[in-house]
Amino acid sequence: MKKITYLIFIAIFFSCESSKEVEEVNLYSQRHYAVDELQYENFTKLTGIKVNVTKANADELIQRLKNEGDKTEADLFITVDVGKLWQAGNMGLLQKINSDIINPGINPVLLDKNNFWIPVTYRSRILVYSKERVNKSELSTYEDLANERWRDRILVRSSSNSYNQALMSSLVANLGIEETQKWSDAIVKNFARDPKGNDRDQVKAIAAGQGDVAIVNSYYIGLLLSSKNEEELNAGKSVSVFFPNQEENQRGAHINVSGIALTKNSKNKENAIKLIKYLQSNEAQKTYVNNTYEYSVNPSISPNDIVKEWGEFKMDDLDLNILGSRRDEAIRIFDKSGWK
Ligand code: FE
Repeated sequence: MKKITYLIFIAIFFSCESSKEVEEVNLYSQRHYAVDELQYENFTKLTGIKVNVTKANADELIQRLKNEGDKTEADLFITVDVGKLWQAGNMGLLQKINSDIINPGINPVLLDKNNFWIPVTYRSRILVYSKERVNKSELSTYEDLANERWRDRILVRSSSNSYNQALMSSLVANLGIEETQKWSDAIVKNFARDPKGNDRDQVKAIAAGQGDVAIVNSYYIGLLLSSKNEEELNAGKSVSVFFPNQEENQRGAHINVSGIALTKNSKNKENAIKLIKYLQSNEAQKTYVNNTYEYSVNPSISPNDIVKEWGEFKMDDLDLNILGSRRDEAIRIFDKSGWK
């Protein structure tokens, strides 16, 4: 009898233990910004759900999701390039998200027509130019950077970078393959140096007089201008921001979203959905805007003051999935034109 009581006690003990198990959600993330940890901490405080993050580049994470199959621990996949979300969806690694999870305040231009991903922030791939050596009136479009006038003056990172691949995919969609190839061949001739470094390094190169115009993501300028590091701050101050393709008959500046998707084999789906909802909330959107200088997907959340100063801009409203679906053609163009 004693033994039975003991066994019952053990059974109750373990059932209590398992119900006390930590609620969690597992995230595979390509994002590389310090504020993300703060977002997840705030979410944990609010819900008690622990967020476990695995960071790597998008290709590695996609490969991992594929290899792990239904054994994956990942519930969510987050990227800084919508093309990689499209790719994961296209490979059958994601599940569709019920549209009632989407915050109705989100700009519809930024949404996935296939419901595989939800935008968390967006950014524009803009031009920055030397305040000393370039006059704003000399700048107009991405296309114009192919003009001989810019010989040895353009700075941009390598073609293996997904921000560049997304921009090239948008050109393929907007101009066609032939025109885009011509553009790529010509702009490569205008490079101030062989592509190297990240977006911040291109701005630093302008400050150092190595080139005059750089193609970079908008938020890096906010990060430089708010940096406590003197070299970075000076680099930020040496340039002005220019949104290309803004004239009436032009398509607008290229944008890309950082977005989140539910993996096909998610085991903590409810928790994952709670995190997706949280990241779209006003609180989380304000945290992004004021720490990474990205744009909120919700037009009612205004940008950080540094970003606000650049003014509003017209965005290219191309279906964002095209930034993934035209990617192979974009990469072939880079290779043919010798863009390192
Ligand atoms: Fe980035």
